[in-house]
Amino acid sequence: MSSEVAARRDAKKLVRSPSGLRMVPEHRAFSSPFGLEEPPWVPDKECPRCMQCDTKFDFITRKHHCRRCGKCFCDRCCGQKVPLPRMYFVDPVRQCAQCASVSQREAEFYDKQLKALLSGATFLVTFGKSEVSETMVCRLSNNQRFLVLDGDSHYEIEVTRISAVQVLTEGYPPGGGSTRAAGLLLRYTTPGAQGTTQLKLMAGEDGNASKRPATAWLVAMHKAAKLLYESRDQ
Ligand SMILES: [Zn+2]
Ligand SMILES: [Zn+2]
Repeated sequence: MSSEVAARRDAKKLVRSPSGLRMVPEHRAFSSPFGLEEPPWVPDKECPRCMQCDTKFDFITRKHHCRRCGKCFCDRCCGQKVPLPRMYFVDPVRQCAQCASVSQREAEFYDKQLKALLSGATFLVTFGKSEVSETMVCRLSNNQRFLVLDGDSHYEIEVTRISAVQVLTEGYPPGGGSTRAAGLLLRYTTPGAQGTTQLKLMAGEDGNASKRPATAWLVAMHKAAKLLYESRDQ
């Protein structure tokens, strides 16, 4: 891919919505699979009362819309401003208590796991039923749409085509202790092909002979998959 095309895929623009400023992908086709659409707001005339505490709205008790679910609340039930990166908001936005707690959990993904996925890690990669594995660096593309694998060969897997993610663990140390992510099985569909392809990633060592970046990447990928499947089910 030329750098010009890559730049176009990652281009963003600032737009103003009723809920606040958003930094959205220039081209819809390149939007992040983790992104969520802004909800339609419940029309004012359909909600005379707070949808949480049932307080009647009037000149003193004003109504506010939760930016995540679009429902109507009083200030007390919808007073928290929380970051909402999945809707591309630049600043924290007003959310109801239920949505705020979901967004706070997701903020951890954006602060930590997403960074790990973007920076990538080293794995022993096996495609399908092959007996041969290849050492590759696996990372998430800047626009978050592809898993990019680089070694002697180069692969790109579209994140939205991943249909199953299973973490492989190792270690039941004598005397107890927790298990550790050692690898990952991914299943994904390929356009034009029937069924799914399996990809196995086993944690490899980085330049300092440490598997920690790979382990962190595996945990992050598992979280990413959960985020994707949850939003598909919504
Ligand atoms: Zn209320
Ligand atoms: Zn809400």
